[in-house]
Amino acid sequence: MTMANTPARVCPLAKKCGGCQLQNLSYDEQLHLKQATAIRLLGRFGHVEEIIGMKDPYHYRNKVQAAFYTDKKGKIISGVYQSGSHHVVGIDSCQTEDVIADKIIVAVRKLLPSFKMTTYNEDTGKGFLRHILVKRGFATNQIMLVLVTGTPVFPSKNNFVKAILKQFPEITTIVQNINPYRTNLVLGDNQKVLYGKGYIEDILCGCRFRISPKSFYQINPVQTEVLYGKAIEFANLKGNETVLDTYCGIGTIGIIAAKNGAGNVIGAELNGDAVRDAIVNARANNLKNIRFYKADAGEFMREAADEDEKPDVVFMDPPRAGSDRKFLDSLIKMSPKKVVYVSCNPETLARDLAYLTQNSPYKAQKIQPVDMFPHTAHIECVCEIFK
Ligand code: SAH
Repeated sequence: MTMANTPARVCPLAKKCGGCQLQNLSYDEQLHLKQATAIRLLGRFGHVEEIIGMKDPYHYRNKVQAAFYTDKKGKIISGVYQSGSHHVVGIDSCQTEDVIADKIIVAVRKLLPSFKMTTYNEDTGKGFLRHILVKRGFATNQIMLVLVTGTPVFPSKNNFVKAILKQFPEITTIVQNINPYRTNLVLGDNQKVLYGKGYIEDILCGCRFRISPKSFYQINPVQTEVLYGKAIEFANLKGNETVLDTYCGIGTIGIIAAKNGAGNVIGAELNGDAVRDAIVNARANNLKNIRFYKADAGEFMREAADEDEKPDVVFMDPPRAGSDRKFLDSLIKMSPKKVVYVSCNPETLARDLAYLTQNSPYKAQKIQPVDMFPHTAHIECVCEIFK
């Protein structure tokens, strides 16, 4: 490993929070463990390259979320849910989270009483503020504050916005998201922009991206550049290829591929907000050879296969649950020269590779783990697949 051996920084809340499963190991030990896990799960499919770790594996998260709770004495606590429960563990700062985001959350919590803003109680369904979400563009320093409220009426909103902006003039947009439902989902369907544009932008691999409150965006931008760099390297674009970017989110991989020589890019994504962002992003990067569709990736692939599309390269970046047979069968039918599979879950990657290799001549040629989530047990891999 190339990293200096950073000793474990033991977090006093580790047991209660449960987010950093590997925090009792030094960073080098974490990387060794992840490498061994990747080899155990994926080694039978192809060569597992050495995991690429972070130079500075702290405060890497560009998106921070907090839940709120008011105790019997009226004291307001902000933090995360205790692992496996809905009890809020008070946290003011965290070794994985962006420092400014953590400071903004504490400041909002301290402002609540003076604005008579109550916190939402999950048991009764009463109360106002449910969650806060802060997203920061590390390259642009644009900051979005999202206040998730149980009810739409926000009587003191103008003064509240003024008060928080006075403390953090670097906040570029503030959004109220309304979530009246009894649900585990943080964000609801309706939102109002209280200040600024309602989105932030960030720059990755030289391309500019718009990020809305509800769109997926990789949470570790430093390692995302490494991950995408590998994905583009594996695609080995020569120019004029037709490229599919499936599970494309806000279009990041497809847009970077288009900038790196792809002739024609088609993206597919289920989340409508992300697709809207992807379309704007393509325009902002002066790309005309790229289109995005709001669709289930499996459905999209089946239609493309039925229409006898012949893509040269297919990027796929599914959520933790992995891909599905509809997708993989259509992929085999279309038979692209190259498949680049970006995975945040080596178990579902192994399942999908097993299906692909048993049902087609495709083989995983290289598997590159990239440490996107230091101190947690999560393992991200990018995999080069061809026949
Ligand atoms: N490639 C993007 C997003 C990866 S995360 C990036 O690197 O930023 C996975 C994405 O898949 C999310 O945006 C999620 O909304 C989307 N998704 C989840 N299930 C899907 C499905 N069945 N079909 C299409 N997209 C899906």
